[in-house]
Amino acid sequence: PLILGIETSCDETGIALVRGYDLLADVTASSMDEHARYGGIIPEIASRAHLESFVPTLDATLEKADVDLSEVDAIAVTAGPGLVGSLTVGVSAAKALALALNKPLYGVNHIIGHIAVDELVNGPILENSVGLVVSGGHSSLLKIGNIATEVEELGATLDDAAGEAFDKVGRLLGLPYPGGPHIDRLSKEGDRTAIRFPRGLVGGRHKEKHQYDFSFSGLKTAVARYIEGLEEAGTELPVTDIAAGFSESVADVLSSKAIAACETKGTDTLIIGGGFSANSRLRELITERAQKAGVTVRIPPIRYCTDNGAMIAALGSALVRAGVSPSGLGITVDTGMPMDVIRA
Ligand code: ATP
Ligand code: MG
Ligand code: FE
Repeated sequence: PLILGIETSCDETGIALVRGYDLLADVTASSMDEHARYGGIIPEIASRAHLESFVPTLDATLEKADVDLSEVDAIAVTAGPGLVGSLTVGVSAAKALALALNKPLYGVNHIIGHIAVDELVNGPILENSVGLVVSGGHSSLLKIGNIATEVEELGATLDDAAGEAFDKVGRLLGLPYPGGPHIDRLSKEGDRTAIRFPRGLVGGRHKEKHQYDFSFSGLKTAVARYIEGLEEAGTELPVTDIAAGFSESVADVLSSKAIAACETKGTDTLIIGGGFSANSRLRELITERAQKAGVTVRIPPIRYCTDNGAMIAALGSALVRAGVSPSGLGITVDTGMPMDVIRA
C-alpha cells in the first residue's frame, strides 16, 4: 500500500510517500528562518507557514514520486506531541484529504515516528529494541516491543530536552539561534576535560527512581554560573572549552543511560532519532560504548533525524502492515501525546 505521511508538529511542513519500506519522495519546507530572529519558535508564525506551505509541499512530493493523489491507499498524520496550532493545520488537511479520497486516516505519535523512520534506511526494527529520541523538545528512552503496537517509555527528561539545553547555553555564549550546531562546532576545538560540568540524575540515589530519566537544567545553570564568575572577574571566556565540557556532560549521560537500558532490557539494538542525534560527541561516545557492550547502534542519516514527512509515512506504513485499525475522521490533536500511544 502507498502511504502519504504528513508532519506539521513544529516548524517543518514535511510530506512524504512510502510504499512498504521504500521512500518514494520526501519534501520539507521550514519556517525556521522566520523564527530565528526572535530566538525561538513563534507558534502563530509556524501555523500560518504550514497553511501556506501545505499544498505546494504536497504537490512537490507527488511530482517527485511521479504518482497521482488518487493512488494513495492511506494517510498518516502527526497527531501529537507538538504545538497545537501547527498540529491542527496538518490534522485538518489530512482529514480533508482522507474524506475527499475516501481513504483511511491514521493519527500518529511524532516521537515514535523519529524511531520508525529508521526502517526506511536500515530495514525492519526487530522486536525488543531500545530507542533514544533526542530533539529540541524531547529526550526519551523507549522500549520498543513492536514499533506498530507496543512502545513503553522507560524514562524522559524531567526539565529541558538535550537540544533545548544546547540552545539555552548557545544564548549564554551569545551564539545565534538555534545554538546546538554552533556549540557542536566549537566543542571540537575545545578540551573536553578542561572544565567538568555536573552530570544530571546519575549514580547513587538516582539509581532506582530515575535510572532512565534525564535532567539538563541544573547543568545549564552550572554553565551560567561558570560564565558569570569569569565575567565578574573580567576574564576572557574559554568558549571552546565551555562548549566541549558541556557537550561532554550531555553526551556522557545520554549514552551511558541508553546503553544501560539495552543491558537491563536484554536487547542488542539501540535506535537513535531526533535532531539532536546530529551531535558529533553523542555519536562518538555512544558508538564507542555500544561497541564495548556488544550493542548495535542504528542512527538514520541526519536529514531523517530532524522533522520530516518520511518518519510519519514510515510509521503509517508499519501500522498498516501490522493490521492496526485507522484512527478515523474524529481525531483531534494531543499536544502532550503519551509515548505508549502510537496511533491516536
Ligand atoms: P521535537 O521533535 O521534540 O518536537 P524539534 O523537532 O524542534 O523537537 P529537532 O528539529 O528534531 O527538534 O531538533 C532540533 C534541535 O536539535 C535543536 O535544539 C538544535 O539546536 C539541536 N541540534 C541540531 N544539531 C545539533 C548538533 N550538531 N549538536 C547539538 N544540538 C543540535
Ligand atoms: Mg524542528
Ligand atoms: Fe521532532
